[in-house]
Amino acid sequence: MSLFILKFKKILCNIFIICIFDTLLIILPFLLDNSFADNAIHSPKIIRVGAYDNRPKIYLNESGKIEGLFPEVLNYIAKKEGWKLVYVHGTWNQCLQRLENNEIDIMVDVAFSEERAKKYIFSNESFLINWAEVYSNSEESINSLIDLNNKKIAVMKGSIHTDGENGIIKLVNQFGIDCNFVEVVNYKKVFELISNNEVDAGVVNRIFGSLFSKSYNVKKTSVIFNPIHIKFAFPKSSPLASGLIKRIDQNLFEMKKNSDSVYHKSVYVYLSGLPRDLIFSKPDIETDKSIINLSFSEKEWIKNHPRIRFGVDPEFAPFEYITSDGLFQGMTSEYIEILNKRLGLNMQLVKYNSWKEVIEKAINKELDVLPCVCITHSRKKYLNFSMPYINFHRAIITRSDIPFLTGIQDIENMKVAVQLNSSHEDYLLENTNIKPIIYPTLKKALLATSNGRVQAFIGNFTSSAYWIRKLNLINLKVAAPVTEDTQTLHFGIRDDWPELVNIINKGLSSLGQKEEDDIRKRWINIEYKPGIASELVWKYILQIAAISVLIVVIILFWNYRLKKEIKKRIEIDKKLFAANQSLKKIDQLKSMFIASMSHELRTPLNSIIGFTGVILMGMTGPLNEKQKDHLTRVNESAKHLLALITDVIDISKIEAGKIDIFPQDVNLAKLVDEAIITIQPQLQVKKLKLNVSVPDDLNLFTDRKRLLQCIINFLSNAVKYTEEGDVTIEAQKVDSKVNIMVSDTGIGIPPEDFPKLFNAFERLDSHLRIKAGGTGLGLYLIRKLATDILEGEIFFNSKKGKGSTFGLIIPIRISASDNSLTSKEDKS
Ligand code: ADP
Repeated sequence: MSLFILKFKKILCNIFIICIFDTLLIILPFLLDNSFADNAIHSPKIIRVGAYDNRPKIYLNESGKIEGLFPEVLNYIAKKEGWKLVYVHGTWNQCLQRLENNEIDIMVDVAFSEERAKKYIFSNESFLINWAEVYSNSEESINSLIDLNNKKIAVMKGSIHTDGENGIIKLVNQFGIDCNFVEVVNYKKVFELISNNEVDAGVVNRIFGSLFSKSYNVKKTSVIFNPIHIKFAFPKSSPLASGLIKRIDQNLFEMKKNSDSVYHKSVYVYLSGLPRDLIFSKPDIETDKSIINLSFSEKEWIKNHPRIRFGVDPEFAPFEYITSDGLFQGMTSEYIEILNKRLGLNMQLVKYNSWKEVIEKAINKELDVLPCVCITHSRKKYLNFSMPYINFHRAIITRSDIPFLTGIQDIENMKVAVQLNSSHEDYLLENTNIKPIIYPTLKKALLATSNGRVQAFIGNFTSSAYWIRKLNLINLKVAAPVTEDTQTLHFGIRDDWPELVNIINKGLSSLGQKEEDDIRKRWINIEYKPGIASELVWKYILQIAAISVLIVVIILFWNYRLKKEIKKRIEIDKKLFAANQSLKKIDQLKSMFIASMSHELRTPLNSIIGFTGVILMGMTGPLNEKQKDHLTRVNESAKHLLALITDVIDISKIEAGKIDIFPQDVNLAKLVDEAIITIQPQLQVKKLKLNVSVPDDLNLFTDRKRLLQCIINFLSNAVKYTEEGDVTIEAQKVDSKVNIMVSDTGIGIPPEDFPKLFNAFERLDSHLRIKAGGTGLGLYLIRKLATDILEGEIFFNSKKGKGSTFGLIIPIRISASDNSLTSKEDKS
C-alpha cells in the first residue's frame, strides 16, 4: 500500500512538474520580452535618435551638438528615464531610411500620416501641431492657391507638405494648377531660393517660417494648408518601440499639463527664437506676479515687453479721464495700477487730447492697449479684448421736455447725437436705421442735446450722468435704456499681442469681488466739483478780451471813415449851395430878361399886327392882290410870334412863381362860348361839327383868364388834329369839382407817345405836324396852369386813328359873397 502511495505521489509529482514546465514554456517568451524591454530602458541603454537640420526643431549647432526643441524635451525625458541618447545626424531622407532599416530607435519631428503609419510606429501624444505656409519674395503677390499657377515653387524633398497626402503637389493638382516645383534638401534652402529670386514662392512649415522669414526677407502669403500632428516615430521591427512609446507619451502628457514644464518653456523659447538659457532661468519672485499663475512663456513675454503704451478717452469719466491738472483718473486707473503691480507689467499712459486721436494711434499700433473699451466690429479689426471688468448700461438721454420714451424705436426719426468712435456709434449703425450726428466728445454731444440742436443722445449711462451733473445740464434726463442687457468694458489689446490678452485676463481674475466693489464705489460716488477749470476761465477771458479789442478797432475804424465821409459831404454841400445860389441868380436874370423882353418884343409886334391890319383893311389906300397876300402873311406871322412869346412868358412866370392869380366868379357856359368864338374860323375852314354840352348854371370861382386859355388850347388842338367829324366840348359837375372835356374824332395819339405829350416843345410825329403848325408848348402850359394856378388836374385818353379826349378837373369854389354869379358877371 505504502509502495502504491509512493508510486502515486511520484506520478502526481511528475504531472505537476510537466504542467509547470508547459506553463513556463507558454509564458516564458512574454516574461523574457518584457524583461528585455524594461532592462533596455532602465539600464543606461543606448538609444539611437535620428537627427537632421530643421531649425528650431532640431539641428546641429555650431559646436557640433544636436540642439532644438525636440532634443531639449527628449533629453529631459531621457534623463528622467535613465536613457542614454545617441543622435545620428543625416538628411531627412537618410533619417527616414535609417528608421525603416531599424538603424535608429527614435526619429523626431515626423508628421503623422496614414501612409507613414504603414512604415513606422508613432507615439500617441502629439508633440506639436504644424501646418504648411507659402512664402514669396516681397514683389510677388500671392493671395490664394490659384495665384501659384505657372509659378516656380521651392519645396523640401520628402516633406509631408511636399508630397504627402495633403501636400502641395497633390493640392495644386486637385485645383488643376500648373506649378514648377524645385525640390531642395531643407527649408533654409527654400528661403534662400526665394530671397535670391531663383523661385517665385516656397513652402515651409509654420514654425520655420515664423522664425526665419524676417532674416531672409521673405513674405508670408495667405496660403496655408495641411495641418498635421508632429510625433515621434519608431521602427516597426524594433523591440524597444512599445516601451519607448509608453514612457514618452506619459512624460509628454504630464509636461503639457504643467505650464511651467520644460516642454512649455522649450516650445516658447525655441519658437520665439530666444536664447536657450531662459528655459532653465529661475522665476522672478520680486513682484506680486508670483501669486498669479503666469506661465513661463507669459513671464518671458512680459520681460520682453518692458513698456506697454496705453491711451484713454480724456472725458470718459468716471471710467477713465484726465483731470485739468493732467492726472489720469477713474476706475480704470486703479485697475491699471493693480495689474502693473501683480503682473509685473509696465503699462504707461500716453496722453492725447481727443479720443479720435487715441483711436488713430491704436489703429497704427502707436498705442498697445486701450484699457476701457466696448467690443465693436470695427475695433475687432485691430484689437483683441480681455474679459469684461466693468459693466454699464447704454442709455438714451433727452431734454426733460421730450415726452416719455419706451426705447430706441421711439427715437428713430429724431436727430440723435453720439460720440465719435464710440461703441454707441457702431451700435446705432449696426442695429438701427438711425443716422447719428457725430460729436467729437461726449461733453459736446450732451451740450448739443441740452441746446436742442439734437433731440437725443445715446451714451454710457454712468459717464453721461457724470457729465450732466458736472456741466449742470439740468434740462437733460436719462429717458430710457437702449437695451435691457448690460454692456461690458474690456481691455482692448493690439491684435498682434495675443499673449497679453491672457496675461491681463489672469491679472483681472486675481481681483476679488470686494476689491472690485470698492473700486466701483470709490468712482461712482465721486465728489463732483462743479465749476470751470482755471485754464478754461483764462481761455474765456482771453477770448472776450480779443473780441472786445476787435470791436473797439472796428468802431474806431468806422468812426474814422464816417468823419472822412462827413467832411467830404460838407464840402459837396458847400459846392451845391454855391451852385444853387448861382443858379438862382441866373434864374432871376432869366426872369428879368423875359419880363423886360416881353415888353420890348410885344410892343413892336403889336404895332406890326395893328398897322398891317389897318393897311389890309384898305384904310391907307387900295392894295393889289400880291401886296394883300404878302401883308396877310406878315400879319399872321406876327400873330404867331406874339402867341409864342405870350406862351413863353406865361411859362417862365409860372416857373418863377411870379404869375398873378385873379380868382373870380365864372359862368362856365359863357366862358366856353367865348372860347368857341376864338376857334370858330378854323372850325369853319375844316367844316367840322361842334357839339357843346355845358350846363348853363355851372358857376365856378377861379382864374377866368387861365381857365379860358386852357379851354381854347384844348379846342384849338382838337380842331388842328381833326380833319373830319366833330369836336365836342362837355362839362359836368362831379361833387365839388367840375369836369371839362374836349373830344375829337381826329388822328389820335399812339400809346408810345403818351409820355411825351406834356413835355415842353414836344411835337409828335404825324402827317398833320407841318400843316397844323404849333410850338409844342400848348399842353405843357395847360398842365402848368391846371395844376399850379387852377389847382386842378388834367387827364386824357386817345386811340390812334380814332380821336382823343383831353380834360381838366378843377374845384368849383363858389364865391362866398354872391350866389347869383350870372347876373354879377353880366354886370361886369
Ligand atoms: P402844338 O402846338 O404842336 O399843338 P401842343 O403842346 O398843344 O403843341 O401839343 C403837343 C402835341 O400833341 C402836338 O404836336 C400833337 O402832335 C399832339 N396833340 C395835341 N392835341 C392833340 C389832339 N387833340 N389830337 C391829336 N394830337 C394832339
